[in-house]
Amino acid sequence: MERTLSIIKPDAVAKGVIGKILDRFESNGLKIAATKKIQLTRSDAEAFYAIHAERPFFNDLVDFMISGPVVVSVLEGEKAMAKNRELMGATNPKEAEAGTIRADFAENIDANAVHGSDSVENAAIEIAFFFSEREIS
Ligand code: ATP
Ligand code: MG
Repeated sequence: MERTLSIIKPDAVAKGVIGKILDRFESNGLKIAATKKIQLTRSDAEAFYAIHAERPFFNDLVDFMISGPVVVSVLEGEKAMAKNRELMGATNPKEAEAGTIRADFAENIDANAVHGSDSVENAAIEIAFFFSEREIS
């Protein structure tokens, strides 16, 4: 059993596809162990994406992530981290495989509908960033 963090980004929340995206997880064997809708502050987004601080797109990424509310969830299941990445599709929706969340709901590489932890180690860090253990079940 493994846990990973998912974020439904502001573009997908604004489009009204929270339910459709959460359904992708549940329909593919990932349990929603915790979920909440929140508005990130600039310092939240900067801290969460600190790993990308030196990348040229960092400021645009932070601006985008605080442009509206997001839905953060803990997904649980066998190989949850890799399974979620598979359901998400490639970072650039134009390269994402048909039937993936990004192919179906994302516009471009800036507004790409979802985030998913990229390793089991980072998943633990990202989950602790948003949730206390008693919020997860
Ligand atoms: P995420 O971390 O959001 O799940 P990812 O792991 O597929 O996506 P990363 O390389 O971690 O991709 O990049 C983090 C986010 O930064 C991407 O989701 C995207 O929104 C943005 N990003 C990545 N590369 C670029 C780029 N070349 N130009 C603009 N934005 C980018
Ligand atoms: Mg990433």
